[in-house]
Amino acid sequence: QKVDNPYSGGQGYRNTEWQAKANSVSGGSRIANNPTAVWIDRIAAINGTPNSSSNGAFGVRQHLDDALRQGSSYIQFVIYNLPGRDCAALASNGELGATEIGRYRTEYIDPIAAIQADPKYASLRIINIIEIDSLPNLITNVAGRGGETAMCNTMKANGNYQAGIAYALQKLGAIGNVYNYIDAAHHGWIGWDDNFRPTATLLADTVRQSGSTSNVHGFITNTANYSALQEPYITVNDQTRPSKWIDWNRYNDELSFAQAFRGELVSQGMPSNIGMLIDTSRNGWGGAARPTGPRTTGTIDEQINGSRIDRRIHKGNWCNQSGAGIGERPRVAPASGIDAYVWVKPPGESDGSSRLIDNPEGKGFDRMCDPTYTGNYRNGNNMSGALDNAPISGAWFPAQVTQLMQNAYPPL
Ligand code: BGC
Repeated sequence: QKVDNPYSGGQGYRNTEWQAKANSVSGGSRIANNPTAVWIDRIAAINGTPNSSSNGAFGVRQHLDDALRQGSSYIQFVIYNLPGRDCAALASNGELGATEIGRYRTEYIDPIAAIQADPKYASLRIINIIEIDSLPNLITNVAGRGGETAMCNTMKANGNYQAGIAYALQKLGAIGNVYNYIDAAHHGWIGWDDNFRPTATLLADTVRQSGSTSNVHGFITNTANYSALQEPYITVNDQTRPSKWIDWNRYNDELSFAQAFRGELVSQGMPSNIGMLIDTSRNGWGGAARPTGPRTTGTIDEQINGSRIDRRIHKGNWCNQSGAGIGERPRVAPASGIDAYVWVKPPGESDGSSRLIDNPEGKGFDRMCDPTYTGNYRNGNNMSGALDNAPISGAWFPAQVTQLMQNAYPPL
């Protein structure tokens, strides 16, 4: 009885807590009415975390009750608490150790499933974004690959990412009005031949591990990332692929990548009616630095750098990117194969602190968030491109949201 596109035909839940934060900055009312996802980023968030700077006092039920009050047609949650979470980054590594799959099942997924299955919420379409960054890490950041980390090796060896996601899909997918979308990284991560098909295989195998392919409704790309939706002034071809920026990737923007990755997933046995989502909350790249046409002179690198709207130093940069802007507003069925453009990362919530900040929330410090960091293998040893003076991940960062609004594209 699930509908083909849960985003169609109604208004999404406006996260009451994020809306208040957005309205607290000058000009924020221009974005505050957009639906954004609710991140369930730890066990305590199920009931609400009033003393946390990176999460709100509302628990899952309060958000659902507010969605009913708003008359929303859908509400978006992020399921984000795997054992050994975020094995290649420190800013959001989670509370559960590598082996704590039992706690993930019984203390995290089971209670969420019990709430989402409450008949009181049967009129809402409940959309779950499942476990950001996890499975792609098992492809690119493991032994034999340059981005290898010890924790990703551990999580690959013990299978707990797959076991956790399969369990989440099975429990949540069994609920009639719940729609699961699994995270599928972004083009600047798995758009290369080495990663594209193996990642699709791993995602498809994990869905099968849940017992039924009907437990998944689709996949999402670019979650909390900054990859441009489209690069209108660049064509990917034999001349442009060797450039430093594209670096032999098959894709140079999220729309073409998401559509192609959808095709790959279907060819690997996913249902032919799966839909893709793209997180466009921070990939607008407008403002004064945005090129207005292609550059056609100079070396191929000069041409690409003068033509690209994604102004990052390198596509591997992911933390609080300086110069970024709000992207497309949430929109239903914007292109073939795409269920919606969505705002999953709430604009203005930090990706991680610029410096080590002591905190009781287990948030680590990742140097990719430090503007003085000169990089590592995963960003081609480039500067991080991060904004300075950022608070811990999830915490409100007014200077960032102000810049995001300035550089919005389409403009606000
Ligand atoms: C943080 C979470 C936060 C989410 C949304 C993540 O990076 O770890 O605490 O809820 O971002 O801002």
